[in-house]
Amino acid sequence: MNRFEILVGDITQSDAEAIVNAANTSLLGGSGVDGAIHRAAGPELLEACRALHGCETGKAKLTPGFRLAAHYVIHTPGPIWQGGGMGEPALLASCYKSALEVAAVHGIRTVDFPSISTGVYGYPLPQASTVALKAIMDFLRSHDLPQRVRMVCHTEQAAAIYRQTWNLWYAEDKDMRL
Ligand code: ADP
Repeated sequence: MNRFEILVGDITQSDAEAIVNAANTSLLGGSGVDGAIHRAAGPELLEACRALHGCETGKAKLTPGFRLAAHYVIHTPGPIWQGGGMGEPALLASCYKSALEVAAVHGIRTVDFPSISTGVYGYPLPQASTVALKAIMDFLRSHDLPQRVRMVCHTEQAAAIYRQTWNLWYAEDKDMRL
């Protein structure tokens, strides 16, 4: 089984054991994928998030998935893009690593990510995809869990950029090109 995949879709419809939410530090919902996840999970998700008292940028916290098919939501606030000189790459890498650590600790086998920080938070996709893929692949190389991770892009254009980055850095031969 391929441990990593890039696909186009709506993460709220994911059948992974856990989906990751590109949250904000309040964890109280927002726009974009965050709002979509809260709408699909139902009001119980907001209640569960309230009890967590927020989350720092680059860290991650777990809740149940409630009405989602996913059993869990891993919430991680991404960095707001401020030109790249404010520690954004390290914070973005930390989001992916922290979310995967939470998954591994809870024995979660399959995790789907959205493209963190690349919507309202304005992180340019080429740079974000490089950071995201490196963080995910570094983690998978040194851990058995999760067994499978997918990047669920909302648009074909975003997926094309992730595939390009994959092909540049990770496709060891022609057969591995996405
Ligand atoms: P951020 O505030 O971290 O930038 P956004 O939700 O604004 O978060 O955007 C993050 C990414 O999630 C964007 O690339 C956006 O296209 C994508 N996105 C929005 N809705 C969905 C969804 N339902 N499923 C998957 N990705 C989504």
